[in-house]
Amino acid sequence: MPSILVTIHDVAPPLMPRVERLWDICARRSVVPGLLVVPDWHGAWPIERDARCVDWVRARAADGAELFLHGERHDEVGSSRGPKDTLRALGRTNREGEFLTLTYDAARGRIDRGLARMRALGLEPVGFVPPAWLARPDTHRAVRDAGLSVSEDDGTIYAFRAGRTIASPVVRWSSRGALRAYASLLQAKLRWVLQQGHSVVRIALHPADLDHPATAASVERTLDLWIGAYGPSGYAGL
Ligand SMILES: [Zn+2]
Repeated sequence: MPSILVTIHDVAPPLMPRVERLWDICARRSVVPGLLVVPDWHGAWPIERDARCVDWVRARAADGAELFLHGERHDEVGSSRGPKDTLRALGRTNREGEFLTLTYDAARGRIDRGLARMRALGLEPVGFVPPAWLARPDTHRAVRDAGLSVSEDDGTIYAFRAGRTIASPVVRWSSRGALRAYASLLQAKLRWVLQQGHSVVRIALHPADLDHPATAASVERTLDLWIGAYGPSGYAGL
């Protein structure tokens, strides 16, 4: 029976109304999702300046939500892609692969700064997830060295404390354009059919999933399927 890990990505001040709606969708199903927090969304939304957002995250952590650092600013400003990076990121992100090109030192610097900012607000992350799951192995080493328990990309969870590397598919949606929205619906359906054999299945919700009625409906349907069949679990269980 697989463990089902549900997370809400992109918890940041400008996205809060949709983040809260996603939380409510989970809460109606008795799911306590993990929250992926961005301390300085696009370099323009320092989380410290939005007391309401910070209070909300703190309250959800008190409700049992596991917190993750999710980049520092969630964009690629200031870094430049090589041809290999461009290939890896193809179709996967709208220039938000903040860790795609970073060396160990650059990744570690951003992780350390992000952790310090969250901890200064009383928020204690258990792990790190790079934006769009795009990062080099250096980033995962930096996460481990920073003392966090978990890092992940879109195929694997690195559970450092447990000393395990776990192959785990991610059910996720894209609402950037109708074509992508419908393609991601099909993908969500296929994952249900094909991937029940995995021991850990992740369901990653993004604020933008609510922008298209078809993806919004698919999110609810998919949660009902997986959670109804297996019940939710948390990263601590790994
Ligand atoms: Zn993200």
